[in-house]
Amino acid sequence: MFRQVKRKTAGRRNFEDKNNFSSSPSSSVIQYSLPKLFSSRLSFYDLPPTEEITLEEFEKWAIDRLKILIEIESCIARTKTPQDTELAIKPLLLKFMPLSSNGAAADEAVIIQERMKDYYSHFILRLVFCRSEDLRRKFIKNETILFRIRYNMLQPREQREFVELNSYKLPWSYISSKEKEELIDSLFAASGNILKQYYNLECGLALNNDQVKQRMIMKENFIKLPFEKLNQLVSNRSVYLHKGYGYLPTSLQLNLLAAEFSENLNQILIRTFQAIPRLEEDDRLIPLLNSLSKNFANFQYDSEENSEFTSDINAITITSKKIMSHYPLCATHLQRGLMTTSHLRYNGRQQLGIFLKGIGLNVDEALKFWSQQFTKNGKLTLDSFNKEYKYNIRHQYGLEGARINYRPWDCATILSKPKPSSKEFHGCPYRDFSLQQLKQALDERGITNQQDINSIMDNVENHEYTIACTRVFELSHQRELIALNKPGQSIQQEHINHPNLYFDRSRKLERDMQKKEEVMTEGSTQR
Ligand code: SF4
Repeated sequence: MFRQVKRKTAGRRNFEDKNNFSSSPSSSVIQYSLPKLFSSRLSFYDLPPTEEITLEEFEKWAIDRLKILIEIESCIARTKTPQDTELAIKPLLLKFMPLSSNGAAADEAVIIQERMKDYYSHFILRLVFCRSEDLRRKFIKNETILFRIRYNMLQPREQREFVELNSYKLPWSYISSKEKEELIDSLFAASGNILKQYYNLECGLALNNDQVKQRMIMKENFIKLPFEKLNQLVSNRSVYLHKGYGYLPTSLQLNLLAAEFSENLNQILIRTFQAIPRLEEDDRLIPLLNSLSKNFANFQYDSEENSEFTSDINAITITSKKIMSHYPLCATHLQRGLMTTSHLRYNGRQQLGIFLKGIGLNVDEALKFWSQQFTKNGKLTLDSFNKEYKYNIRHQYGLEGARINYRPWDCATILSKPKPSSKEFHGCPYRDFSLQQLKQALDERGITNQQDINSIMDNVENHEYTIACTRVFELSHQRELIALNKPGQSIQQEHINHPNLYFDRSRKLERDMQKKEEVMTEGSTQR
């Protein structure tokens, strides 16, 4: 995938070489067929990719995968169950890394392109996360959960094909239906209790032993493998052992696959780390890898996608309880600081100003708002405001100086700024507030349960500020989250890594609740 030496051709690229991939996805696919590497939509990522991709693909694919891994990390930190984690991750997989099945309607070029993205992004993130013990541990944990989720998304036929495809790694083989029927009593004696619980949950009935056996014959694809590969399960007495082989039902196979996946990845990451110095020769990739590894949560939330809530944002409404109730703690603290002291220092003005721009405050309304706040205690005249601060506000909107269209700061940027002094209000309250201040702020948001407070404080103590913020979001929007939750579907509960994401998500929940209540009211008047 990466050159070991610098490119020989001028202009950094030689994609015009017909032996290389074209930068256009569809043409790459036309020129190349990669059936072996991409024959299944799940992979142990054994073979390194060897074809070239563009730098844009390199960065975009890595970031998209990173978004999914960050969400998994956040689910773990919020002690979500595996089922809830799966519900939260599936929509993200569809959005950022869809993987169509072989028989899907999608055309073959699309299927190969999706699998390329999955394959290459995994290898790129290996380079990013092989660099320290801590990063390796996180990467392995999150990738293994992703592997489990994806395995569960496969059709039974695909699961079987995947196992057969990887039989060279694990000496597995499926037993025939005949063998299964012959051994059913022994298989039931070993694995029946586990499967009974599983089936009872699945069909909501208390099945008797014969019914469990019938289901085992119909549903379970037993594999057999040398018993030394089954240490843990043998000690739990949950597999049938016969002539040196263990017989494993479908529901227990994933544990084994996941253990193999994570062990494999652990060894490969160490080898990758040892090989990194040879890659250091490439001066285009290193800055990219460094920026990806610098902060696990450092990518931009695209607030431009969420412009639907801007129509009622102006200099007056942003001071109202209705709008401020959607602010995260950092924005609330800044705006209250401004409203009570009639002043904010530079970092505070930048953090709040671009946040407000992000929620839809246009430049004229922003000038009205800031001038009103700065002059209302009479210490500053409108003239002085215009001389000293107007340029700064217009600059935030890209109307002065280098005319950069500044994007609202994400949490990582906010946390990278110097901590506020006693007269400043910028920063992240989860990091900068005293324990007492934070408890009071939580109390104002209706979070009074001691267990909830303790778990937020634990996150704060571990410097997991965005996780504390996500937890606060969930607790303070519990009513909406429960009311809008549909069985089997995850409503948006993603990790908060941006103040504007907090705001947009909060407003979306409010709007969805209103819609739901309107539908219910209409329904009751028609009856
Ligand atoms: Fe604001 Fe981010 Fe801190 Fe939440 S975690 S308060 S959004 S800076």
